[in-house]
Amino acid sequence: MKKMLIMGPPGAGKGTQAESIIKYYNIPHISTGDMFRAAISNKTEIGMLAKKYIDAGNLVPDEVTVGIVKERLSKPDCKNGFLLDGFPRDIHQAEMFSDMLKELGISIDLVLNIHVDHEKLVNRIIGRRICPKCGRTYHITYNKPLKEGICDDCGTSLIQRKDDNVDTVKNRLEVYSHQTEPLINYYKDLVVNIDGDRDVDVIFEDIKKVIGE
Ligand code: ADP
Ligand code: ADP
Ligand code: ZN
Repeated sequence: MKKMLIMGPPGAGKGTQAESIIKYYNIPHISTGDMFRAAISNKTEIGMLAKKYIDAGNLVPDEVTVGIVKERLSKPDCKNGFLLDGFPRDIHQAEMFSDMLKELGISIDLVLNIHVDHEKLVNRIIGRRICPKCGRTYHITYNKPLKEGICDDCGTSLIQRKDDNVDTVKNRLEVYSHQTEPLINYYKDLVVNIDGDRDVDVIFEDIKKVIGE
């Protein structure tokens, strides 16, 4: 069971749990959000295109998103498993994803769905800080770095994502409710619900039990 999706609203803790999961199981973390942020900071064509959608909290068009996922999943390091985070994000992407999986001869074994009440998500997102170099995620209250504003792993100054502001978050939560949440039913046979309103380590212990060895 190592070809997995991790789902949940923005701020639920997908990226945080993904950091632990990929280390423990030694599989690649494929985050469409991270790939877009890297493309934006490298000023690639995809980055330029994606930026305006991301800054507004809307979904990047499928033609772009599906293409980058397919390219990534075709790489040899995905053969023995992967954790896909942030994709698919609506039913149309899920249908395109299903065709892609058939073409690549892959099937998904498990969908982890992390749920947290929406009123708690805004605080999580507004207080989120990320390391622009290694991607590690922190929180100004719940998950502080050892030294304020500095990444524990690589010493880089932490930044706040441009889309982590009150206005954009509201739209992102709406986009989630309307477009992404219906996927929980779409994948109902594969979904395992995880209560994301607990300590990070407690949640990870639970996830390990679900995934197995
Ligand atoms: P997502 O990838 O789902 O958007 P993140 O993993 O980036 O979410 O987490 C959002 C914010 O909440 C981050 O600042 C992170 O440090 C913090 N966070 C993650 N998990 C928890 C938790 N279980 N309890 C409290 N804060 C958390
Ligand atoms: P979060 O977990 O906080 O929602 P992500 O890093 O997953 O944030 O995504 C950030 C932004 O990147 C989204 O608001 C959206 O604009 C874009 N994005 C990420 N994944 C997709 C996707 N599969 N389809 C379309 N847009 C996406
Ligand atoms: Zn770092």
